[in-house]
Formats: sequence, structure tokens, C-alpha cells
Amino acid sequence: MLYIGNHLSSSKGFLNMGREALKLGANTFAFFTRNPRGGAARDIDPEDAKALVAFMEEHKFGKLVAHAPYTMNVCAAKENIRSFSVEMLIDDLERMEYIPGNYYNFHPGSHVGQGADVAIPMIAEAINIALKPEHHTTLLLETMAGKGSEVGRSFEEIKAIIDLVELKDKVGVCFDTCHTWDAGYNNVNDFDGVLKEFDKVIGLDRLKAVHFNDSMNVLASHKDRHQKIGEGELGLEAMKYIVTHPLLQDKPFILETPNDDEGYAKEIALIKSWSM
Ligand code: FE
Ligand code: FE
Ligand code: ZN
Repeated sequence: MLYIGNHLSSSKGFLNMGREALKLGANTFAFFTRNPRGGAARDIDPEDAKALVAFMEEHKFGKLVAHAPYTMNVCAAKENIRSFSVEMLIDDLERMEYIPGNYYNFHPGSHVGQGADVAIPMIAEAINIALKPEHHTTLLLETMAGKGSEVGRSFEEIKAIIDLVELKDKVGVCFDTCHTWDAGYNNVNDFDGVLKEFDKVIGLDRLKAVHFNDSMNVLASHKDRHQKIGEGELGLEAMKYIVTHPLLQDKPFILETPNDDEGYAKEIALIKSWSM
């Protein structure tokens, strides 16, 4: 089964995102849990959340992939940024309980000069504080492009974080096709090899969701600029190979490509045509 969708604005509420996704031809979607560049969160209407859960069931949606705000950095050097970030993580996971059983994806963080070896235990500690045995959400660490001092630029760094997490059954990975390419994983010429490497280092059972993006830049550029599907350095053939890969079936694929609604509807239709 193919689950495909894009990022939607959460400003109109849960049920409306479901309706919007359906209109675009999607059967999953992503949304920011709060202002992506600030951190302010809207109040949750429990009835609206319930309505979305019912709507998703009715229309056979796959799991949603919520996204943490970009301002969250649980391994910041400054204590106040770190504690503010952990507070957001705690609050977001509580809020995710209104739509149980979905994914919450976040960027591991930027070590801002401290080094990944200092940052990795901080990230794991934040997860250990925020994640509770009674939660129904799986936390996903996103594979990063390695721009600046980003942590999660290699499968090894992601694995090192997971190793320090207590509730390991509640943690997975979101594989971003643009980021991994920018980080140096050859998703074009050797995608099977990349998956094999992922399996060897992290374990494929941890790969829960895909951010499905083409890249404006070449392999190992460490840039992180997304491109429309087929219009970047990965190209149509590779994108088709990835989304139809037997090892990735039933995972939610989330588009984070530079598009308007019409563009997303077109991309979704194109991708669906590949997997028929
Ligand atoms: Fe992201
Ligand atoms: Fe992404
Ligand atoms: Zn990105």
C-alpha cells in the first residue's frame, strides 16, 4: 500500500487537514505541531482531534508524520534554549495523545560547536525525559543533510542516539531522501546499498517514514535544499525506484517539495501512477 501526502497547515484544525489531504489525493499528511519558526502552540479541540481519527479510519489513511518546530534544539549549547526545547518536546508528545498511534518527527539538533559526541547524550536525555511508557506515539529521528553542525548526518549518529534511549520500542527513524543524498548516501546509483547500510547500522525495522524530496544539490553537498520530484539531482528514475521499493511499502511518504496545492496534487497523482 502506498501512503503519500504533504505538509499541511494546522491553523484550520485537525479534521480540516484530513479533508484537505483527501482533496489533494493524499492518504497521509504532515503538519507542524506548533509555529515552526517560533514555538507557540494552538489549543487542541479534543472533539476536532477525535473527528480526524474517525475520518482517517473511514478513508483508510496511513500514519501521520507530525513535525517538531525548527526552533527546537535539545542539544543547544545554551541551557535556556535546551530546556525550552525539552519543554516543547514534552508538551508536543502530550498533545500527540489526542491523535494516538501516529508519528512525531524531529531534527536531532545542532551541536553548535560542542561536537556530536557531546550532543548525542543530550538528545537521548531529552527523549528519555519526554517519552513516557504510556504514550501512543512513535518518536522519529530525522536523517539530516549535515548542514552546519547538524547531528544525525550519518546512520551511525542516529544509531548512537537510539542506543542511549530507554524506551527503544517507541523510537524510529524518518528517512529524508534529500537529506541522506546531501549527506553522501547515494540514493541514485545505489539505493539498495543505502538501505543495506541502514539495516546494518540502525536496522530496517526502525525505518518508519520517508520524507520524499528531490534535492537541488549534488551528492554529499551538505546543503539541504529540497527540489520538486524529478526536477533535482535525484531525478525521476531514482524517485520512482525509491517509492516503489519493496522494503518501503506501507510507510508514509511525505512530500516537502517547493509546491503550491496544485503542484502537490500533481506530484501525488504522479507518484500514485507509479505504484499502480
Ligand atoms: Fe525536517
Ligand atoms: Fe525532511
Ligand atoms: Zn530539509
